[in-house]
Amino acid sequence: MSAQETNDNVEAQVQALLAQMSLEEKVGQMTQIDFSVVSVVNGEVADNPIDQAKLEDAILNRHIGSILNTPTTPNNQTQPIEKWRRMTQAIREVAAKSRLKIPVLYGIDAIHGATYTENAVLFPQAISMAATFNPDLAFKEGAVTAREVKASGLDWNFMPVMDIGRQPLWPRLWETYGEDVHLAVTMGSAYIHGHQGEDFADADKAPTCLKHYVGYSYPLNGKDRTPAWIGERALREYFLPGFEAGVKAGSPTVMINSAEVDGIPGHVNHHYLNTILRDEMGFKGSTVSDWADISRLYTRDKLAASPREAVKMAVMAGVDMSMVPFDYSFYDLLLDLAKTGEVPMTRIDEAVTRILRVKYQSGLFDRREPDLAVAGNFVTEEAVAANRQAAREAIILAKNDQHILPLKKQASILVTGPTANLLSVMNGGWTITWQGAAEHLYPKDKPTLLQALQQKTSGKVTYVGGKNFSDEINIEQAVTQARQHDVVILALGEKTYTETEGNLESLHLDPVQLQLARAIFEIGKPVILVTFGGRPRIITEIANKAQAVVLGFLPGMEGGAALADILFGDTNPSGKLPISYPRDTNDIVMYDHKPIEAFESNQYRPLYPFGHGLSYTTFQTSDLRLNKDSIAMGENIDVTVKVKNTGALTGKETVMVYLHDVAASVSRPVKQLKAFKKVELKPGAEQTLQFSLTPQDMSFIGVDMKRIVEPGEFEVMVGSETARFQVAKP
Ligand code: BGC
Repeated sequence: MSAQETNDNVEAQVQALLAQMSLEEKVGQMTQIDFSVVSVVNGEVADNPIDQAKLEDAILNRHIGSILNTPTTPNNQTQPIEKWRRMTQAIREVAAKSRLKIPVLYGIDAIHGATYTENAVLFPQAISMAATFNPDLAFKEGAVTAREVKASGLDWNFMPVMDIGRQPLWPRLWETYGEDVHLAVTMGSAYIHGHQGEDFADADKAPTCLKHYVGYSYPLNGKDRTPAWIGERALREYFLPGFEAGVKAGSPTVMINSAEVDGIPGHVNHHYLNTILRDEMGFKGSTVSDWADISRLYTRDKLAASPREAVKMAVMAGVDMSMVPFDYSFYDLLLDLAKTGEVPMTRIDEAVTRILRVKYQSGLFDRREPDLAVAGNFVTEEAVAANRQAAREAIILAKNDQHILPLKKQASILVTGPTANLLSVMNGGWTITWQGAAEHLYPKDKPTLLQALQQKTSGKVTYVGGKNFSDEINIEQAVTQARQHDVVILALGEKTYTETEGNLESLHLDPVQLQLARAIFEIGKPVILVTFGGRPRIITEIANKAQAVVLGFLPGMEGGAALADILFGDTNPSGKLPISYPRDTNDIVMYDHKPIEAFESNQYRPLYPFGHGLSYTTFQTSDLRLNKDSIAMGENIDVTVKVKNTGALTGKETVMVYLHDVAASVSRPVKQLKAFKKVELKPGAEQTLQFSLTPQDMSFIGVDMKRIVEPGEFEVMVGSETARFQVAKP
């Protein structure tokens, strides 16, 4: 069947089904409940967590269309895969008993792998995936995640986050692909392609969800779920492109911004949800609210005078499905609003059409049991290898004075600091539990940094540290031990968190970490600083004194092993910073800043700039050339540049092509990343890389809010070279 025929077929099936549905069945489709609503008490430990009577009430009487999460919220907890298969099968069987046999769509936050399935392959989090600058790895992560989600009997993944990460305080920064638009677009699109394949109805593919539309990632005060103030130009230039790319890559669902932009909560923003998302971007899928956000229009935002009005406002603004999550209030209120005609049937039919379309496209109607047998599809060798590779490419070597790294395997090492011996600090939120902190539930066969070092070394490794993150380290003992070893690995950073629970007052490290570092530096032994965590906590003083700095961010379950590989030189590091690493808490300037941000006393001088990352070898780019000096409006410009491995080891380098519009009617960033390629080169090897910059790359959002290219001069920058071209007047 051609794509068009499949499409027509789906539309015909949706319309035929819709025509048979009662109002109650339609409103039910728009309702999503948390699993705990149909769970027995303590469902996370029960063999069969489903309360059959509650489940039948939900599906047969309330006709609910979707379920999310695990048996216990908010303490969502990982479950064995066989249990997931039984749970989701029980849901399928009740749905099959309903009048129209409409399947339930089961959604889960599988944000770095199948997070809530025991032993699933858990990749680096998005910020670390971005640091790989390797879209093939994002593609593989998507493919592995979809397969493991489907093997668990689950249907739908609330990922990727396509909002841009330009507010380092925000406790969800690490769920983004960082500060740059082109990098986020590239990595997010690759993830979606891997996850959905050609057809997300396939047994090992699953639909994705673009989050959190739009501007949620940019709270002015840095706290989660607080207002963003984003003008329309900035919205179009920085925040919308990720979602445009996600729609283009075929993602069929969008989750809505839980907070507000410019005074309008995401869930009532008709302009964003209709004019921009649908009319301009051509999105045909369905939108889902975020957690409890329709009722919050009344309880929190005070936009609605009653819970009933909140439902009306959100549905009329374009919310198709409500993540209610704990009761049937949305169902009851919407039913009443539809009966009185306050919410017209046309709007209900529109929302239900979109939801059913996603269900048909996902193949749910043809699937009456979990798609994949577990054997051969869960934790494959190939998936583990891809994860290991992603972790290795995600880790950033930021400083390496006098080539102190790689370490000799026989070196005697003191390891100290709160992040040295925990898996949770490398995995972050949405790992095994919502906050990711249940260290005792983590797999026993994945090494922490300390364990990985112990496995690799033939020298003496001593560890001085607390048992968990908040334990104070015995500084005196650490100093005594430091004197007796060749080198100190100081592992600092953040404990795991997500959402409002990760809100911060300052990016400074905990004072006790600083005290430990200062005491160690006093004795003058070489120190290798290793950091883990989702945000760039301020490390300037320590980084300046350390001989080497390795930024781990959240490299996932293989992070310990990968980091040890790098420290001992079994892997040549190639990670690059996907954000500008601030020098101090108020030093929040992005690499693609405006000229005014680096004018007179203003400066862009982060501790480490966007794109920074060292290798154990050296690379040189040269011979930057453009195919023309001047192009006509609408033409591409072709760029070639040579890259050479000038050192003594094989390594990978990411060549980045930046563009600058020299003079324009709207102030332009000093440079913007427009293309990159990561290549592996042997010592002495050289490769010529080709890129093509398109009119889209040269465009910006003009005075009248339309995307335009203005004639005039442009600069292309690669490494230390610059080349110029003109776009001729039409
Ligand atoms: C988060 C979403 C998540 C949802 C479902 C919300 O609190 O903001 O990112 O997908 O919960 O768990």
